[in-house]
Amino acid sequence: MDYGHPIEFGTFITPVNDPPQAAVARAQLSEQLGFDLVTFQDHPYQPGFLDTWTLLTWVAAQTSTIQISGNVLNVPMRPAPVLARAAASLDLLSEGRLALGLGAGAFWDAMVAMGFPRRTPAESVEQLAEAMEVIREVWRADSRDQLRVDGKYYQLKGAKRGPAPAHDVPIWLGAYKPRMLRLVGAKADGWLPSLGYLKPGDLARGNAIIDEAAAGAGRDPREIRRLLNISGEPGKGAAQWVDELLPLILDDGVGTLILGSDDPLELQRFAEEVIPAVRAELSTRRTNAGPVRSAVALAARREGIDYDALPASLTAVEPGDFGYAKVRSTYMRGGSPGLVIKARDVEQVVTALAFAREQKVPLAVRSAGHGISGRSTNDGGIVIDLSEMRDISVLSEADRLVRVEAGARWKDVAAALAPHGWALSSGDYGGVGVGGLATAGGIGWLAREHGLTIDHLRAADLVLADGSRMHVSETEHPDLFWAVRGAGANFGVVTSFEFQVDEVGDVGFGQFVFDASDTAGLLERWGAAMEAAPRDLTTNLIVGAPRRGQSLAQVYGVVNSSTPDTIIERLTPIAEIAPLLDQQVQLVPYAGVMNVPDAPHEGQGDPVARSGLIDHLTPSFCAAAAALINAGTAYFFQIRSVGGAVADVPEVATAYSHRAANFSVVAFGASKSRLDAAWAELATHFRGLYLSFETDQSPERLAEAWPPATLARLRALKREYDPANVFRDNFNIDPLGD
Ligand SMILES: Cc1cc2nc3c(=O)[nH]c(=O)nc-3n(C[C@H](O)[C@H](O)[C@H](O)COP(=O)(O)OP(=O)(O)OC[C@H]3O[C@@H](n4cnc5c(N)ncnc54)[C@H](O)[C@@H]3O)c2cc1C
Repeated sequence: MDYGHPIEFGTFITPVNDPPQAAVARAQLSEQLGFDLVTFQDHPYQPGFLDTWTLLTWVAAQTSTIQISGNVLNVPMRPAPVLARAAASLDLLSEGRLALGLGAGAFWDAMVAMGFPRRTPAESVEQLAEAMEVIREVWRADSRDQLRVDGKYYQLKGAKRGPAPAHDVPIWLGAYKPRMLRLVGAKADGWLPSLGYLKPGDLARGNAIIDEAAAGAGRDPREIRRLLNISGEPGKGAAQWVDELLPLILDDGVGTLILGSDDPLELQRFAEEVIPAVRAELSTRRTNAGPVRSAVALAARREGIDYDALPASLTAVEPGDFGYAKVRSTYMRGGSPGLVIKARDVEQVVTALAFAREQKVPLAVRSAGHGISGRSTNDGGIVIDLSEMRDISVLSEADRLVRVEAGARWKDVAAALAPHGWALSSGDYGGVGVGGLATAGGIGWLAREHGLTIDHLRAADLVLADGSRMHVSETEHPDLFWAVRGAGANFGVVTSFEFQVDEVGDVGFGQFVFDASDTAGLLERWGAAMEAAPRDLTTNLIVGAPRRGQSLAQVYGVVNSSTPDTIIERLTPIAEIAPLLDQQVQLVPYAGVMNVPDAPHEGQGDPVARSGLIDHLTPSFCAAAAALINAGTAYFFQIRSVGGAVADVPEVATAYSHRAANFSVVAFGASKSRLDAAWAELATHFRGLYLSFETDQSPERLAEAWPPATLARLRALKREYDPANVFRDNFNIDPLGD
């Protein structure tokens, strides 16, 4: 039977220690010759051999594309939890090039001589099966529970998991006897015997046992790759090789042929003469090569998505796929989408959107997944993910015009602009994505001096609901250009933005911690200090509920100046708003302020946040806000300074409203009903809200984000550009609403 795996070729190199570099050189030669895989036997008791694991790491470091594996690793001598971590580490370091060939152990006298317990054949298979479970559990780094295994050979008592490998590392077993073969069928990803140890008919007999065990475990036998170590007498001609190898592939289903040889000339002849000849023969005689999705992965598919209809040009991650844990949730919200399509260019966005429109499931658009409302994931729907579209380029040095793809993050933008002495007013957190923020507003460290991010937008490229591509600017489709700047998520997928950026070099970055016992007074004094401050100062303030009787507030801020005296002058009034407990002021490049470490997106549940835009921090607002904070209703309460240049832009110029507000307020709560009730008390103080800091999707929130005339204009445009309401999952402007 042909199991349909694309044919691959590998080498089987002796890990000799004479000289130590010889095996590495043969691995490098294997790569140069175009072999797919290089493997090494593992006999950790053999005096003339290098340790195989150490050799694998060295080979990985000295090669760049070839897959590497033990052939096969001695499991009884390599503690499974440590082997799991070592394998994941090597897979990460080699960028996904490891395969894990495992064996139940051999040469027991030598192993016993090194202090390992002798096992019967049955025990060694049992141990291998347990080891595989342990290894796979350790790799499940996304699982939050501690790892407990009460096995016969492994006892883990609350072990930590991870790291997860870079890719779905296949586990291949070196197996000959029925018990091992059944384990291959039930649990492994590949069968790896040596032809030299097999009698005629053993491959067919082995396959039959594996296939039956696979079916018994609910698996498709095609999930299991059949590999085979082969060797030939020196000088065997290409034609003879082809004659011998073709039946192994076509009749016995072998998908990977691994040549055992340390002779560079033989490796070269095989690569140059045999492999092309085999491939040529197969191209006419084999039609069913293609990846096989496992039964487990198929069972994890969600209703309403025609997975088989996904265009071949698209790369997507399904619930049963290895990479799913990394893409299912966002920074703020836990999700379980049915399909995450990773678009790499505009054409793929068009294709993905056309496919998504055909499916009867929710659609989310994701740039970097930092949306506070968390709508860039969903349950059972499709996500179009632009995170691989993150190019940043300069269009005009003279005009400081840059083009940024939607999937870039603001720290990438800051780092790319820094060498030019430029920066773009964006958010305060470098991990946030360009796509979500630049379609909504963009309140950041330079806001009071340089305005919102959207105020720097000169043009944008969109894919509209009907799949058409549109370039919008003040002169091309100006109505849509207006809508994109504040309500972009409702009108299409923005694939790239053209921004005019500012000259910004080093800045003063201040961090202060205050005693916030007088919470209301502190808020009032900070508000007054900010309203009086020159525009080159933008700060934000975070206050939490009292803990262990102590109430603390933090203020972070940027002074857009590299002159120490100016920085001190601007920050001094801030430092005086309350008893100061700690302070730090640094002169740093703007890109340094934005440079945050990458954090995995592990949001859980639904976030709860409420937003308000307010003109002044009046005594009555501050008293009400202090009551909310001190009651513990919000676990995070933040006020950002806006105003300044934000208010210079006419209210009608963009679809971002309430520009006169000097402050943007946001509160995160653990309980939606509690926070909503408290927010209703504050509502009279607000003139509107900023949707990027809001999670409540009710229509009333739209009326707070936009005054009636603006909302009516947006609705009319929605009817024109997205009449079927395709983009509706995040603060939907219903085209049929009034
Ligand atoms: C830690 C943190 C700090 C923040 N700080 C600030 C700040 O200082 N200032 C500020 O203004 N905001 C800030 N925000 C809010 C942030 O601006 C928004 O959440 C923004 O939407 C995130 O963009 P994203 O691309 O990462 O989000 P995603 O989660 O990828 O997308 C959020 C939403 O935006 C829409 N969207 C995303 N990409 C596109 C696209 N290419 N075309 C059309 N629509 C799209 C979708 O509706 C999507 O649901 C912060 C958020 C977090 C989590």
